[in-house]
This record gives sequence, C-alpha cells and structure tokens, in this order.
Amino acid sequence: MPNSVLAHLIKIQRDFLWGATEGKRKIAWVKWDAICCSKAKGGLGVPDLRRRNWAMLGKWWYRLGDGREGLWKRVVKDKYYDGEGEVSMIDVDTVRVSNIWGDIICVGGQSMKLKSMLVKGFRWEVGDGCRVSFWRDVWAGNKSLRDLCPRLFQLAEYKESKVKENGLWEGASWKWDLKWRRERLGREQDEEKKFWEVLGSVQLRQSVVDTWQWTHEIGGNYTVKTAYDYLESVDSLLEGHLCKLVWCGLVPSKVSFFGWRLCLDRLPTRWNLQKRGMVFQGDGMECGLCKEGVEDVNHLFCTCKLAWSVWVKVIRWWGLEVVMPDKVRDVADFFLWCLGHLVGKEMGACIFLVVAWYLWYWRNVLVFQKHGDFREQLLEVIQGKSFFWIRNKVEGCVFSFVQWQNNPVECAKELSRYKKSLKIFKQQQGRC
Ligand SMILES: [Zn+2]
Repeated sequence: MPNSVLAHLIKIQRDFLWGATEGKRKIAWVKWDAICCSKAKGGLGVPDLRRRNWAMLGKWWYRLGDGREGLWKRVVKDKYYDGEGEVSMIDVDTVRVSNIWGDIICVGGQSMKLKSMLVKGFRWEVGDGCRVSFWRDVWAGNKSLRDLCPRLFQLAEYKESKVKENGLWEGASWKWDLKWRRERLGREQDEEKKFWEVLGSVQLRQSVVDTWQWTHEIGGNYTVKTAYDYLESVDSLLEGHLCKLVWCGLVPSKVSFFGWRLCLDRLPTRWNLQKRGMVFQGDGMECGLCKEGVEDVNHLFCTCKLAWSVWVKVIRWWGLEVVMPDKVRDVADFFLWCLGHLVGKEMGACIFLVVAWYLWYWRNVLVFQKHGDFREQLLEVIQGKSFFWIRNKVEGCVFSFVQWQNNPVECAKELSRYKKSLKIFKQQQGRC
C-alpha cells in the first residue's frame, strides 16, 4: 500500500477517535503508536495499518526464499539481480526498481525494525545445501558460522561457498571437507571444537530443497500475525494490573476509554491543557471542583477535598477502612487490592472507574455549565449507574437496587457466583 494512502487512512482513524471534523482540529491526546499498541501493553489495540502493511510485505520476502518455484520470482530475479544465486531484498539498488515492484523488492528499506526482523527472523532448514551460504547464512545453531567462529572464518579458503561445496556424499552419508588457509592454532582450535559440535547437529538430506524457516512461529511458516506482533515497537505504557483495571468487563467501553486516558494522564485537566498551551489568559489553573488546588489529575481525582469526600462515601458504602493516598494510581490500587480482595478485582476496577467517571462528569458540569452542583446526590448516582451498567453487562443477574445500595458486598459475591456457574454451564453446553 503506498505511503500516501496509508497516511490518509490513518488520518481518518485518528480524526474519528478524537472527534475532529473538516476544518476543526482536535488535540490528539495520545500518540498514534501508543493507540495501536495492544491492550495488554496499555494501548487501545487499534489495528496499525502501517505495521500490517509491513508484515504483509514480509510475506513476499518469505515466499521469495521459501524454496518453491514461481513465475513472479523468475521475473524479479531476471529483472533486478545480476548476480548468481539467492536474491537478497535487503540491499537492492532502489534506483532500478519500478514503482510496481518497489514496495516488495525494497521491503528492507521500509523501516529499520522491519529490516532487522527480516534479517534475524529467518533461518535455513538445510536440505541438499545448494542454496545456503556456508558462512553467512543462519542454518546451524542460532547464528551464522561467521559470527559464531570469526577466527575460523578468517582462515576459510572459500568464504562465499555454499554448504554443499564444503563436503561430499559418500553413499548415503555426508562427509565435511573444509579448505583452510593454514593449520588452526591456539584459540582457533577452541573455536574449531565449537564449530564441529554445531556442524554435527545438522544432517544434510540429498534431493531435498533448502527452505526458509520463520523463527517466530512453531512449524516455521511465516504468518502476518506473528510478524505484526513482533513489529510492535512500543514499550508497555501501563503496568499489567492497570491494563486489566481499565478493560474490566463491567463498564461500557466509553468508561474504559476514559479510564485509559486517566491512567495515562491524558485527560484535558487544566494542568494538561496549560502544558499544551490551550488555556487562555484570564483562565486560572485552579481545580474545577474546589477552586483551590492546581487541577492536575492527582489533585482532581485524589487529593481534592471534594473529590476525596466522594471516595470516602464510596469506600464506606463497601464497609472498608479509609486510607488517604496521594496519587490517583494509589486510589486505583486501593480499589484493586483492598476491594478486590473482598469481592474480586473486576468489581474493584468497576467501582473505581464509575466513581472517577462521575467525578469528571461533576467537574465538567461545574466548569462548563457553572451550575447544577449535585454533590449531595453523587453517591446515589454512582450506586444507580454502577447497578445499571453491571445489570446490563451480566445478563440474568438478579439482585435489586435496594440490595445493591444496602449490601453491595453480598451482591458482588452473588454476582461472582452467578458468573462462575454461567461459565461452567457454557462450557458444558460447548461439550454437548
Ligand atoms: Zn480540588
């Protein structure tokens, strides 16, 4: 896929995510690489079209070397390679390549990461040894023999030889016959020991074509999926427990998306807006709730006295002791570990997300509508909405709102028992 088309498609995806429209730009709060990162690593798991394209181009690379004949391979070789032997798509002279073949032939030039994957991700499954470079390819052990035994490589008479040129068949058994420039001495002899050990582990096979093996998949077949996963270059954005918290199965996806931005500190708090130059003169950075502290994510969702009073009510509703944390992540940890210990991490995550969602909602009402303070009803709103969302997510679950309000722990345990029995029932149905 041409890069201009890719860039256009990615722009459509990005505008959709952040709500940008024709002529109206919006802040992209999280960089695109991170959004395409898998959910397990703290991303949104949005398909990365560029990476997918690379992984598919890698398939052409694999098919070029997999030993099977094909008309397209003959075309490529005749048109773009002067030399004898195997085609290398990594070091092709790009000037000579037509647009039609450009992306495929110069696949190694698309990105360093892709090039490295292609160089390191394949090894030869040696058959008759006609196609494999004895010293330079990876076919015995995990490295090329040149890298494994650099001193011996210097002594080798035929550095560019193929595997089959370094021995001969005596009946059905293969005998190695290496040509050296002189006797091996000292450390060279140590290397030689390793060298013969590695060679001893390989068995050549007469009349079997050498093939490429993809090292990231059992069975050696290249798959676009393994390449796509391998090419994911972003380090983890969130710790594993926070990823699980964000994607807990009891809240709607809009709440998960909000929780994800909260954990990454990518909500438009006044502090974050100011950092991006978005607060105009006259606007302070004070908290939208208490109007006192600086509105960053830790203040707004944790140390703000108004927000904290809501957390305290919720924690008491669950019959737990209150410990005052400093950071919003500590609050998340509290719900995951303390409430989680009592009724399961999924429920702990759910309650944390619902409260945070409504704190943000309350803040937005105060900032944008300048009225409608509903602090007195907030606990009831949180109880009502969590009840509603959980009931929507877990079909057939039976407890009333009054029970939920008065004894949430028992309701949560009931829910957990119900989900377990549902799972067993589905497993049994699957077996029938
Ligand atoms: Zn505040």
